[in-house]
Amino acid sequence: MTKKRKKLGKRPVRSAQKSILLFHDMRVEEDFELCAQRMFEVVRGAARRFPGRPRRMILTVQGHRNDLGAFDHDAFEIMQEFGSGFLLCYLTEFTHPYFTLKNNRKQREDIPDVLEITPPEDGSGSSFDYWGFARRQREFISDPRSSRPTLRAIADYLGRDTSCQICWRKPVERAHAVPESLGGSNDVRNFALLCTYHHREAPDIADAEAFWRWIDYVYDRDAHMRPEVGIPGFVFEASPWNELIGVDDEGKPGTETDENLFRRKLRIELTHLYGWGPEEFSRLESIGIDQEFHRVRRGATGRHRGVGRKVSTYAWAYNTALVRFREIEKIKEERASEK
Ligand SMILES: [Zn+2]
Repeated sequence: MTKKRKKLGKRPVRSAQKSILLFHDMRVEEDFELCAQRMFEVVRGAARRFPGRPRRMILTVQGHRNDLGAFDHDAFEIMQEFGSGFLLCYLTEFTHPYFTLKNNRKQREDIPDVLEITPPEDGSGSSFDYWGFARRQREFISDPRSSRPTLRAIADYLGRDTSCQICWRKPVERAHAVPESLGGSNDVRNFALLCTYHHREAPDIADAEAFWRWIDYVYDRDAHMRPEVGIPGFVFEASPWNELIGVDDEGKPGTETDENLFRRKLRIELTHLYGWGPEEFSRLESIGIDQEFHRVRRGATGRHRGVGRKVSTYAWAYNTALVRFREIEKIKEERASEK
């Protein structure tokens, strides 16, 4: 027995040198910030679990095309600035859709705890124009077609099949990110594939980035609606939404006419999607915020398929109203201090 142990102890430890393969798929609904954050978490998680093992990362990108058919600004920044510029030193190798980059130095292990993302200086990361209610869309020069692209064309762009992007069910509908009534185009980049239920829930707003954020959020929220994935022992947690309001597995929307139910759903969405806490909710009591909310709602949200009152649209409008309200207060304070 002793002999055997000694023998084993002399064997070189090869497993420590095995590299770890990391993978991230930048989906259409992920913008630069979300994608960067997730890639960072993947690398940090691997470094914590398997310190010192060489890490090789592969990035794939769905959609995210500019007017020339090349990768759009967010995808390009993820590959160049973030992946090759920032993350590569914590990896041994980084592969993106164009090519593979090798880290010529020793892979670093001192990965920071938190990733801080600052908006680019050229202003390209500027957000929705909350004051002018401008449209924010991903396509700058829209395809001027007057009819909608086919299901197949949208699915190809999204890098998936013709099932709902959130729950994977069929049949699906072609959902505008920015509705036509708010100036949205029929460009393939302005479409999501959603089942009737999720289409009915999606926000009708002029802000495409907020629409895609909503898709990304509901993808997690409604994970339990997707068919079981083949990972043994992996169980999706039930969505906090369903627990609180009792939406059934078929995704029946419940009784939205019930004012309390609507308010509770709104609270959940403001908390989980827009990150509201007690401070934000307490602002709803402020004088003037209601007025701001109605101004936003009238100016930048639309009625779609006869559904005027949606939790998702209202949550966006409340959040936008709060942003505007805070700015008004800031200006007032600055003026007061000048006097
Ligand atoms: Zn669905």
